[in-house]
Amino acid sequence: MFQRNADGSAALKQIEINTISASFGGLASRTPAVHRHVLNVLGKTKEAAKILSNNPSKGLAMGIAKAWELYGSANARVLLIAQEKERNIFDQRAIENELLARNIHVIRRKFEDVSEKGSLDQDRRLFMDGQEVAVVYFRDGYMPSHYSLQNWEARLLLERSCAVKCPDVATQLAGTKKVQQELSRSGMLEVLLPGQPEAVARLRATFAGLYSLDMGEEGDQAITEAIAAPNCFVLKPQREGGGNNLYGEEMVQALERLKDSEERASYILMEKIEPEPFENCLLRPGSPARVAQCISELGIFGVYVRQGKTLVMNKHVGHLLRTKAIEHADGGVAAGVAVLDNPYPV
Ligand code: ADP
Ligand code: MG
Repeated sequence: MFQRNADGSAALKQIEINTISASFGGLASRTPAVHRHVLNVLGKTKEAAKILSNNPSKGLAMGIAKAWELYGSANARVLLIAQEKERNIFDQRAIENELLARNIHVIRRKFEDVSEKGSLDQDRRLFMDGQEVAVVYFRDGYMPSHYSLQNWEARLLLERSCAVKCPDVATQLAGTKKVQQELSRSGMLEVLLPGQPEAVARLRATFAGLYSLDMGEEGDQAITEAIAAPNCFVLKPQREGGGNNLYGEEMVQALERLKDSEERASYILMEKIEPEPFENCLLRPGSPARVAQCISELGIFGVYVRQGKTLVMNKHVGHLLRTKAIEHADGGVAAGVAVLDNPYPV
């Protein structure tokens, strides 16, 4: 988000990193055409031409295809782990279709299917319904409620296999809010990027304030500050999928309840970003188009492929702009709060 500074300037600040089931790469590939069309209908051809092209589904498929290729078995499939009731299937299909265009076949299965019909051979090659699997792509498994005991066992089987995992457990954990808070500690980037002070400075400039709530003085102080200024902080548990963060009065109540308990260490505290609102029109099924005060949030898709300790691919493959009315603190597109949008460079 663009943080509005006291002097009127703006700086891009990172909200978070997602390393599992990052969605809307497929639909974001289609929205430039929608906005160009609308502008063309209005006779604004010059403006229409300024909408940036964007094709994350192609880039995400390229990353999965690279992993498939490294696995090295011409008939192996990509296994997409899907939810039982998936509302966002067309977003996923865009990636599947890009893979099919490269002659890579995708099979969609649930965790339950894996536990019933998945198996490993003696070389830990993964088979699903008799078909060898080269890459497992998770579009499920990022919330505790996604894991019954049976599903945990399925995840363990997938993890133990020699199929490429997008992501493996370690990479999924690296995306937790706790890890992001630890990365922002002074000296940490310097350890990870030795001899690259410019890169460290550029990265650090995107960090908002992030605070550990571990037991001890540092955590105590963060809690005191947040209770004194509830509008300046966000309380975040280790959860994904939107709707879990606490703001304002709710945050204060949670902090009062948690402050003497070790449970508080399972949360982090974050400085609240305040972007400059602007007027825009949010279009939703079932409600009339209306102009509202909005803020936007820019997402950048990246693909990262690693073989052992060798970095094979680390690329930016597109973007996602989500816009929401200012009255909503939390929540994305899937939660029904934000809408898919396009950046309009000026
Ligand atoms: P999740 O992993 O559940 O999506 P996020 O940390 O991305 O959780 O937060 C969800 C949403 O809440 C974000 O997309 C953003 O709109 C809002 N949000 C999160 N952190 C902040 C913050 N520090 N300042 C302002 N808004 C925030
Ligand atoms: Mg997230």
